[in-house]
Amino acid sequence: MTDCLFCRIARGEIPATIVAESPRCLAFRDIAPQAPVHVLVIPRAHQGSLNDLVDAATFGEMGALAQEVARREGVSDSGYRCVVNTGADGGQTVGHLHLHVLGGRPLGWPPG
Ligand code: 5GP
Ligand code: ZN
Repeated sequence: MTDCLFCRIARGEIPATIVAESPRCLAFRDIAPQAPVHVLVIPRAHQGSLNDLVDAATFGEMGALAQEVARREGVSDSGYRCVVNTGADGGQTVGHLHLHVLGGRPLGWPPG
């Protein structure tokens, strides 16, 4: 059991708008959306970042849930972006592995 923010969201201790769920993962809306669709997909079990991923199956399930989120949010055909910020240079601010699903407008490339 950890005090980590996303662990607490996964345990239902901090409210979040849940978009989709799977046995090992959870998808909820980002509190500060950067696009019309901005959903975070996390493993329920704490893993600090992609550096700490030990079982590839968890990341596979995150990908499958991201696909479902895109479908439910109506951006499968228009397109979307999945981002996993990792570490300081990657811009990671919450130390619990998460995948951003962004869409609903054209997204610039490359990122800043
Ligand atoms: P990172 O910068 O680590 O890749 O992404 C962390 C994301 O978590 C940010 O986009 C930020 O807006 C979001 N976030 C931070 N605190 C909360 C919160 O309490 N609830 C929700 N739903 N999102 C949060
Ligand atoms: Zn955590």
